[in-house]
Amino acid sequence: MSWLSNIPPGIKNIFKPKDDNSDALWTKCPGCGEMIFQRDLEAAHQVCPSCEHHLALGVEERLALLFDNGAYEEIDLPEPATDPLKFRDEKKYVDRLKENRRKTGQQDAMRAAHGSIDGVGVVALVQNFKFMGGSMGMALGEAMLKAAETAVEKRAPLIVFAASGGARMQEGILSLMQMPRTTIAVQMVKEAGLPYIVVLTNPTTGGVTASYAMLGDINLAEPGALIGFAGPRVIEQTIREKLPDGFQRAEFLLEKGMVDMVVSRADMKPTLSKLVRVLLKERRQPAKPAQDPAKVAKLEKPKAPTLKEEPKLDKAAE
Ligand SMILES: [Zn+2]
Repeated sequence: MSWLSNIPPGIKNIFKPKDDNSDALWTKCPGCGEMIFQRDLEAAHQVCPSCEHHLALGVEERLALLFDNGAYEEIDLPEPATDPLKFRDEKKYVDRLKENRRKTGQQDAMRAAHGSIDGVGVVALVQNFKFMGGSMGMALGEAMLKAAETAVEKRAPLIVFAASGGARMQEGILSLMQMPRTTIAVQMVKEAGLPYIVVLTNPTTGGVTASYAMLGDINLAEPGALIGFAGPRVIEQTIREKLPDGFQRAEFLLEKGMVDMVVSRADMKPTLSKLVRVLLKERRQPAKPAQDPAKVAKLEKPKAPTLKEEPKLDKAAE
């Protein structure tokens, strides 16, 4: 037993590191270890000025950064039955929910809003990792469906900012059922011919990566974001092999083709704006006759266009 464990709790609390909600003046960058002045960090939207490490961004900040003039309308989300399994681990699930609702000021992990990006109406979903690790439960399934319905109704693209530890174990099988449910939500948007874009933020793992977070017409990721199904430690223990550097990070996944683009927070809005414009334009305007006869021959093949067959983004954007 170390001498530290003998310190009375009252004294320990004085030296306890403050959590992100506290009004501490300085934050230590997890990337380079430098102390950053809180106000500078806020001005840079939680990106380290020294090493560009992307720290977690709050839901409101994320929405304000995305939409024109920071203006958006929050979408009311349906509330599913609370704790149908009467689950209890160290705490009752209902108590855990109450605590997280108090801490974050929101009903569950996912929030949805409608607004415009450079004048184009968009529905956005933002997952809050601070709410039980952004876990996917019934409420999240409801949020996805509601947002998808709103997107279809408003003829607006759907963008989701994912951040999650995976399925919510307190809801057992009901949380796993949200994988097909959210997939159906995504399908609704796609069938309506509307773009569905995913932005993977740090961290996006588990059942979320195995459902809606990997189904984007285009999957973007923030730099350095951890993205994967099982965590690196679990994989290492299972395969008994050392994993390569940067494994499951956004850049690694880009190299392997799992992610389409790694976009810094500063470039996120312009990139999304360009993407929704390109994708919407393509579906709303009839295809122009191609100049190249080889291309014409290709176009004449009676094949229904699907979202997966979209031209590569860089070509489309030019
Ligand atoms: Zn840094």
